[in-house]
Amino acid sequence: MTTVAAYAAPAPKAPLERTTIERRPVGDHDVLIDIKFAGICHSDIHQARDGWSEGIFPMVPGHEIAGVVTEVGPEVTKFSVGDRVGVGCMVDSCRECDNCKAGLEPYCTGGGPVLTYNDKDKEGEPTYGGYSEQIVVGEDFVVRIPDGLGLDVAAPLLCAGITTYSPLRHWGVGPGKKVAVVGLGGLGHVGVKLAHAMGAEVTVLSQSLRKKDDGLRLGADHYYATSDPETFEKLAGTFDVILNTVSAPLDFAAYMSLLRLDGAMVNVGLPEEPVQVTLQSIFGNRRNLTTSNIGGIPETQEMLDFCAEHGVGAEIELIGAGEINDAYERVTASDVRYRFVIDAATI
Ligand code: NAP
Ligand code: ZN
Ligand code: ZN
Repeated sequence: MTTVAAYAAPAPKAPLERTTIERRPVGDHDVLIDIKFAGICHSDIHQARDGWSEGIFPMVPGHEIAGVVTEVGPEVTKFSVGDRVGVGCMVDSCRECDNCKAGLEPYCTGGGPVLTYNDKDKEGEPTYGGYSEQIVVGEDFVVRIPDGLGLDVAAPLLCAGITTYSPLRHWGVGPGKKVAVVGLGGLGHVGVKLAHAMGAEVTVLSQSLRKKDDGLRLGADHYYATSDPETFEKLAGTFDVILNTVSAPLDFAAYMSLLRLDGAMVNVGLPEEPVQVTLQSIFGNRRNLTTSNIGGIPETQEMLDFCAEHGVGAEIELIGAGEINDAYERVTASDVRYRFVIDAATI
């Protein structure tokens, strides 16, 4: 066991504070990663505040991890000391079910994936995330960060990147497709960059026009405020895909009306409250209302390679670990441009 410094929420809704945790010894198939940067995802906030309930405390959040390999187990074949690597939302899965074999580990039917934090590993030990100095992970759940990507701007891609890339690919986003991204936050701003890089015509639907200049700079072709009722009249029946990244419930009927025939509204935002939807708002145009859960390990590597090729990184505000609680407040107030990333050297 190695003792490492970390930031943890000791109890639901309590501020995060500096503490220490134990990391397991490096096993045969494990790599030890010296964490350099950890992104702050809104999911960290939902969980640290126990908004999704049944959280395991103390909780060390963080599933957007970028770092450097400092030790490898004797059976490790994919990584060497010095490699630049990332870890996202999962650190293990059953590895045997059809979905795991297909590289769709988030949909593991053998008990679900082992999440990077707020979960228990196969030995029943709590998992602790990226707001820490080091992490030990089996090599099959580690991905390579291409040289062209800075570790700081790559960290958020491990969740925000794959969570937007996977549904954009699944729903065939590319040239000739019209895509709306709802919410220009951590996920949303990466979604805009990715959809633009895939060749789609991209529209941002934000609460206001406050961030319009940024949205257009990030690759959006159009930008509308959802607080303006005219937006919904103007854009009725327009989109092939709506990627909803909003962390709160929306008026689903209003958004469904923006889809064209067979269009899909993919919800990656996970509000804490139940949402309401009428089937009448869906059937008129044979629309799809669906969700998407991060993405598998092979697709995460594909996404990172795509990002390196297209120069896609997150727009970040680098913070010291002492600023985590303030950053949580700002994310909750939609005041983030566009991802807070913790400099792990300050933990
Ligand atoms: P974020 O940075 O806070 O971005 C969410 C954005 O939604 C905000 O910037 C804001 O954009 C908009 N928004 C917030 N409150 C709103 C409200 N009441 N009404 C309308 N719009 C609102 O959060 P994030 O890190 O991108 O995460 C977004 C959601 O995705 C969270 O619920 C998170 O848990 C979830 N998530 C899911 C997965 C998955 O696998 N499905 C993975 C990661 C995260 P504007 O200011 O532009 O309106
Ligand atoms: Zn996340
Ligand atoms: Zn499985």
